Amino acid sequence: MEMTHRHWEQKTPRHRSSLPLEGATDQRVPLEKMHWVFKIRSSGDTCPDRPTHQRRDDQTTALQCVEASGTCCFTMRNESRFIWWILRIVVVTALFFLGFVIGWFAKPTHPHTADSSVSGRYLREFLDEMQPDQIREHLRKFTRLPHLAGTEQNLKYAEQIKNEWQEFGLDSVEMVPYDVLLSYPNKSRPNYISIVDQLGNEVFNTSLAEPVPEGYEDVADIVPPYSAFSAKGQPEGDLVYVNYGRTEDFFQLQREMGINPTGKIVIVRYGKIFRGNKVKNAVLAGAKGIIMFSDPADYWAAGVQPYPDGWNLPGGGAQRGNVLNLNGAGDPLTPGYPAKEYTYRFSPEDGVGLPRIPVHPIGFHDAVHLLKNMGGHIPPNNWKGALNVSYKIGPGFANDFQSQKVRMNIHTNNQVTRIYNVIGRIRGALEPDRYVILGGHRDAWVFGGIDPMSGAAVVHETVRSAGKLLNKGWRPRRTIIFASWDAEEFGLLGSTEWAEDNAKLLQERAVAYINADSAIEGMYTLRVDCTPSLNTLVYDLTKQITSPEEGEEGVSLYDSWHKRDNWTNDRDAPRISKLGSGSDFEAYFIRLGIAAGRARYTKNRKTERYSSYPVYHSVYETFEIVEQFYDPSFRRLRAVTQVRGGLVFLLADSQLLPLSADQYADSLRKYARSIAQLAQRHPEEMETFQVSFVENFTVAARGFHERQQTLNRAEYVCLSKQKCSHNKYAGESFPGIYDALFDIENSADPEKAWEEVKRQISIAAFTVHAAAMTLTPPA
Ligand SMILES: [Zn+2]
Repeated sequence: MEMTHRHWEQKTPRHRSSLPLEGATDQRVPLEKMHWVFKIRSSGDTCPDRPTHQRRDDQTTALQCVEASGTCCFTMRNESRFIWWILRIVVVTALFFLGFVIGWFAKPTHPHTADSSVSGRYLREFLDEMQPDQIREHLRKFTRLPHLAGTEQNLKYAEQIKNEWQEFGLDSVEMVPYDVLLSYPNKSRPNYISIVDQLGNEVFNTSLAEPVPEGYEDVADIVPPYSAFSAKGQPEGDLVYVNYGRTEDFFQLQREMGINPTGKIVIVRYGKIFRGNKVKNAVLAGAKGIIMFSDPADYWAAGVQPYPDGWNLPGGGAQRGNVLNLNGAGDPLTPGYPAKEYTYRFSPEDGVGLPRIPVHPIGFHDAVHLLKNMGGHIPPNNWKGALNVSYKIGPGFANDFQSQKVRMNIHTNNQVTRIYNVIGRIRGALEPDRYVILGGHRDAWVFGGIDPMSGAAVVHETVRSAGKLLNKGWRPRRTIIFASWDAEEFGLLGSTEWAEDNAKLLQERAVAYINADSAIEGMYTLRVDCTPSLNTLVYDLTKQITSPEEGEEGVSLYDSWHKRDNWTNDRDAPRISKLGSGSDFEAYFIRLGIAAGRARYTKNRKTERYSSYPVYHSVYETFEIVEQFYDPSFRRLRAVTQVRGGLVFLLADSQLLPLSADQYADSLRKYARSIAQLAQRHPEEMETFQVSFVENFTVAARGFHERQQTLNRAEYVCLSKQKCSHNKYAGESFPGIYDALFDIENSADPEKAWEEVKRQISIAAFTVHAAAMTLTPPA
C-alpha cells in the first residue's frame, strides 16, 4: 500500500530571531502600569549607585526596569529618596492589607470539603458518575485516525481535548509546546531487509507495511513498522541469532558458544526486556545492525485467533517502538533542560541515547524467511521460539545458502519537531500549592486503541466526572493537575520536558503522580504498581469499587483482585508490584522523587506468558479490538477509571495526606535484605575488599524505620530511585547496587568492581538516611 506521510515533515518549529522571555506575553507589564512605573522613576526613583538592576527587590521590578529602559538612572536627590521611601511604605502596607483580604476570602469557601464524611460522599458521587458508555465514546472519538507525535492529527486531538476539558469545567487548560527530536521513516525510501545473493541481487525482501485491518483501508498516514531513532545505513553481513538480546544472552553467545557477533547483523526476538536495551547490548557486542522480530512464543496467546477474528498478533504485524537509551534524559538534544525555542541544542549526531547502528522490527512471517536457512550451532531449548524453524545461531546461512547475506536498508530521519502537552487544573480550596497529578500520553504509533487511548479515555472520563462534582459545589482541598502528554512513544518526551520545565515547583509542591497509560492489557484482573507509601490507599479504595467481572455483582474489586492475584509470599492481600519504568511517571518518580502509581486491567500472570499484549504497537490496536475482545461492556475500563480517578480524589481531598511511611519502611527492610543476600553470594570478596552492608546500608535502613515509628501521622516520604541498566522496564530496588553486583564474578578488575559496589552502597545509605531525616521533627 502506498503510504502518504503528508504531515511528517511540515512541523519543523519556527525559530525566532530574538530570544523570547518565557511566557513573555503574560509577564509583560501592561502599558498603563509601565507608565506608572515610569512616573515614579521620573519623580525621583533612582539607581545611581546601582549600575545595573540586579539589586532590586523583586523580579517584577527588574522586569519593569527592563521594559522602561532608559528611564532608570537619574541623579540622586535627598527629597526624592524621601518620596521613594514613602511610596515604598504605602505599597508595602497596601500589599499587606491585600494579603490579609486574600487570606480572609481564601478561607474554605466550601467548609464541608474539609469534613471527611462529606468528602466521602463526594467520592461516592465521583465514582458513580463514571460511566462505561461515556468511556466507550471517548475511546471511539480519539481512535479514528492515526495520531503519531508531531503530526497534524495529534495536534487536532490535543485541541479537542483542551476544548472538552474546558467544557467539562476545569479552572484552566493550556497547551504547552516543546520542540524535541523525533524520528520518522523517509516516505520516498522505505525501510526493509533483504537477503541478497552473491551478485548482490535481492532474493527476498521483508514487507513494507502491515496488512491494514478491514474498515481502515482508506486511512492515510499509517506509519509502517520502524524503529524510531535507528541510525541510517545499509549494513550487509551474516546473521547471528541471540535469543532475546539480553545481557545474559550475549554472555552465553560469547562465553559458552564462542561466537563473536562483531561485524555481524544480530537478530533477536522481542520480549523480556525493553527493546532499547537489546540495541545497546548489540552495539556493545560490536554488531553492525540489529533486527527484532515478534515470535509467536512471546506474542501469541494459546487458543486465540489472530486479529480480526481474535486478539492475537497476525504474522504480518510488527512492533514499532523507539530504541533510545535515554536514562531519563527526555529530549535527546536538551538533557536537563526544557526543549523550548531558545534552549541550546546538541547537534542531532550528539543526541543522548541514539543508537549508532541500523535497527528494524519485523513480524514473524518475515522472520521465518531470515531464520529458516541459518547454519551454525543448534541452540539451547530456552532459545527456541514457536516458529517452525531450528533457531540455529549462525553466523550466516547453512550449506546451499552460504553465499547469501542479509542487507538492511534503513533511511529513517531524525528531526526536531513541535509537540504539545495539554495541562488542565482544578485549583485546590485549602492547599492550592499542593499538586496531585494525573498524567497520561495521547500520541500513538497508529490508532492507539489500547496504547494509549484506553488510558486517555480514562483520564477524559475522570475530568468529566470531576467537572460534574465542581458543578455541585465540590472543590478539592489540594490542586489537581491533569496532563495529556505528547511524544511518550519517542522516549517519554512530553512528560519529561514538562517535568524539567517545572522541576523547582514540582519538587516543592507535588504530592503524588498517578500515571494513565494503557488501561487494559488483559481480561483477568487489576494490576497495580506503585510506591509502597500508596499501598494502603490502594487497598482502601478498591474495597469501595465493584468488580467489573460478569457474575461478581456485589463483590468488591478488592476481593475480585485478591482472589485472582494473591501476594502470597509477602502477605495475604492482592499483589502490588514495584514501579519500573517505560512510561510517563519516570521523570516524576525517578528524577523528582514524587510518590507515584499506576493501575490497569491485566492478564493472568500465571497462565498467560506472552509479553505485554500480542498486538502491542501494531496497526491492529484499534477501537474494535477493545470493543470486541478486551472489554465489550467497558466495565473493566470503568473500574480502572475508578481506581485512577479515586486515587487522585483521595490524594487531593483527604485532610491528611494518605501516604504511609510505615509501608515504605517495611518495603525498605525487605529490599535491604534481598540486596544483602545478593552480595552474600561473594563472601570472600566481601571480606577481601572490605565491603560492609551492616555498617553502611542496613544502619541507614534501620534509622529510617525507627524514625518512621516515632511518627504519629501519615507523612510523605519518597526515596529517589535509579534505573536498572539491563532492562528499563524492570522495577529494581537499589538498582545501583544491583547493577554493580551484576556479573561481578566475570569482572576483569575485581578490585575496581568491588570499589563500585562500596560506592553504590554508600549512595543508597545516604539516600535512605536523607529520607529518614525528613521524618525528624523540625528543629
Ligand atoms: Zn503508551
